[in-house]
Amino acid sequence: MKANLLLFLAAGVMSMSACTNNSNKKTEAHTDSDSVAKTVMIPDSTNFQSDIDGKKTGLYVLTNANNVQVAITNYGGRIVSILVPDKDGKLTDVSLGYDKVAGYQQESEPYFGALIGRYGNRIGNAQFVLDGKTYKIPANNNGQSLHGGPKGFHAQVWDAKQVNAYTLELSRVSKDGEEGYPGNLTVKVVYSLTDDNAIKMDYSATTDKATVVNLTNHAYFNLNGEGNGDINDHILTINASKFTPVDANLIPTGELKDVAGTPFDFTKPTAIGERVNADDEQLKLGKGYDHNFVLTNSSTELKQAAKVTGPKTGITLEVLTTEPGIQFYGGNFLDGKLKDCKGGKPYQHRTGFCLETQHFPDSPNKPAFPTTTLKPGVEYKTTTLYKFSVEK
Ligand code: BGC
Repeated sequence: MKANLLLFLAAGVMSMSACTNNSNKKTEAHTDSDSVAKTVMIPDSTNFQSDIDGKKTGLYVLTNANNVQVAITNYGGRIVSILVPDKDGKLTDVSLGYDKVAGYQQESEPYFGALIGRYGNRIGNAQFVLDGKTYKIPANNNGQSLHGGPKGFHAQVWDAKQVNAYTLELSRVSKDGEEGYPGNLTVKVVYSLTDDNAIKMDYSATTDKATVVNLTNHAYFNLNGEGNGDINDHILTINASKFTPVDANLIPTGELKDVAGTPFDFTKPTAIGERVNADDEQLKLGKGYDHNFVLTNSSTELKQAAKVTGPKTGITLEVLTTEPGIQFYGGNFLDGKLKDCKGGKPYQHRTGFCLETQHFPDSPNKPAFPTTTLKPGVEYKTTTLYKFSVEK
């Protein structure tokens, strides 16, 4: 910690408003399936310096004692790059995204790396009733509300404070009525990089009026390296014996269904692609995996929710969370058409996956699901970790 702190001070990044200037930073990393080591970098920070909605954006870089580097922009609180060592010690960028802030402003961008709020995933018919009042929220997904609406937290500029080389604090006030949600919500998300190679995300929020809250991060991972083929060969475990089946609009039916005997059983390590094209109604509705899993240990203690390994690099991601659910999304809507992706590589079908820790989708309309209502005087508090290691 000490050496790293010195590095941070030496880099002259102590100014709270300044972003780490990483334009000279070069890192050896995998960039293609032939494992040819090329130099890849965290994107140039100047590509993230902009003025959006009257607020300054930038790129903030966290670095730990193992030279793991995580770049985050305060535009949408997005994780832009995650450079971690592979089985040969070569740093590999495992996170999909863009190398310019303008990329993230494109309408087609699929929430790459974003902080999602006020409500992660879908709310059915884009409305809910709270304390007897009906709230209508923008319908941005087939008549449903997805990820907090078109101007959700992913498209907002957060106030950023880089505390030290390890820690970035992002905060904002989501005003009463923003994207149709009631109550002024004061939100803080602290990203910390630990010396055991974990990105820790501490979410907290308070409100002055009853509201609904479900915050998550929407990082897309490819543990063989972003832009390096599909993720069907990744070996996945999800510690869930049930999942929440969906209807044609991807809204949970309300049922908690056993995964046993279905392609949703990831209780033992299984390749993502092994059953993804199976003749299964839920897979057809989701166009693959796009479902909320009910964690077997649904307590609010921090527990392992999922574990994934990219076989080409050995890079392993463990997801730990205090949340009761996790959305496993297999990149079914990636189709190679997104423009200006990092390194100019198109992201083809299923070349990234998300593991979004959360309360269940549509909980405001599903009284039997764990509640997502937040009342004044109560603090919303959740923690999720993305922890990286190598399995040889
Ligand atoms: C949703 C998908 C959606 C994706 C990105 C996931 O959380 O469940 O249906 O396509 O986010 O847009």
